[in-house]
Amino acid sequence: MQQLTRNVFVETQIRGCSHGFVTTSDGVVTIDSPHKPSDALRLKAEVAKHGPLRYIINAEPHGDHWTGNAYFDAPVIAHEGVRRRILDTNMEEHVARVATFGPEEPKLLEGYRPNAPVITFRSGMTLHVGNHTFQMIHMPGHTAYQAAICIKEEGVAFTSDNIFHKVQTWLQEANPDLWLLALESLRRLDEEVFVPGHGAVCGKDYLSEQAAFIEEWKAYVKNAIDRGMTKDEAIERLTAMTDRYPMDVGQDGMAPSVMKRNMANLYDYFSGNHRSP
Ligand SMILES: [Zn+2]
Repeated sequence: MQQLTRNVFVETQIRGCSHGFVTTSDGVVTIDSPHKPSDALRLKAEVAKHGPLRYIINAEPHGDHWTGNAYFDAPVIAHEGVRRRILDTNMEEHVARVATFGPEEPKLLEGYRPNAPVITFRSGMTLHVGNHTFQMIHMPGHTAYQAAICIKEEGVAFTSDNIFHKVQTWLQEANPDLWLLALESLRRLDEEVFVPGHGAVCGKDYLSEQAAFIEEWKAYVKNAIDRGMTKDEAIERLTAMTDRYPMDVGQDGMAPSVMKRNMANLYDYFSGNHRSP
């Protein structure tokens, strides 16, 4: 893993979300967890070298951020919408999908039970562990339940998937206008070093590029609607965007389906049929 500061370690190069942990004077706090169970066990061994695990914080409701929680024995903290989404997940389907990620996974998924958040917040909360302060700030955008996790003493913020750094942006359930506001909220944070939901560590200079891509998606979908295309036609004729960025690690071949899901969601958003699951 990459040591980002004195106490922050991150992993941005494996399948699943970019995640990390913080070492404090009273144990370790992880932020998000690996998508693959075998990676979760590797992280668990690494964390154990630094002290007892106190808490896991999840930054958003997608499975690539919380599947690995199950392999740790620590309470999870997240937005209340993250808890609800995990509890509402069809676990049989979820486990079947994750089992395809590698040869080691099926065995590790036997008897899988998610470690869902037991401490939840709505607009935000502050957690003190040892000498460290973790500030969670609700920032809807990529989904309705995103949070930025700010490590005050380290100058680092985990942004969740409100930032995809130089990899394809997933807007499959996004509210693009709230997302643009979230990017402005990130710009106003004290923290200057960002661990994005996907991609390598970045800084505030990337926010304008992320915003421009969301603006481009908005314009592209609005244009399809203005030209009278039905949702199916708009999805069918979607040609742009696919090659703009590479897909994140482990997402090869998924670009066309992600683009279609992005289009379907934004079409609903601009035609007034948007609902957040
Ligand atoms: Zn996500």
